[in-house]
Amino acid sequence: MLAQRAVLVVGNTATPADLADVTAFAFDVAERLGLAVHVATDMAEDVTQYEGVVLADTWLDSVASAVLGSEAMASDMFCIEAADVYAFPSDAACTWCGDAGRVAPRRTRDGWTAPMHFTCASMIRKASATAPTVAA
Ligand SMILES: [Zn+2]
Repeated sequence: MLAQRAVLVVGNTATPADLADVTAFAFDVAERLGLAVHVATDMAEDVTQYEGVVLADTWLDSVASAVLGSEAMASDMFCIEAADVYAFPSDAACTWCGDAGRVAPRRTRDGWTAPMHFTCASMIRKASATAPTVAA
């Protein structure tokens, strides 16, 4: 299995205050999703070097969100908005193996999974479409 990569957090970083807001959000994402994070400060980021993209606001809140978010989707990577990060409890049990831990909805080729570990989702991606899924 490949080493776990970071997720790219994208938002409006036009001013130092904006950047501080996005950075604070990124720390929250790291804690909730149990993933390393990197804050995008310009649109030169290569989204394929990341596990996925989390938008600090929505698609429309910054040019970077629209551009990098679209690139992530085009690369078949997960791209979620801030509201989606907060829509799930961070202490749920893994739907795949049943253990507690850092579980979160994961993006697969077939859609979003129920909350599960990153490693469990990785196995599902390789296996097949037998994973429990929830509507996108
Ligand atoms: Zn699991």
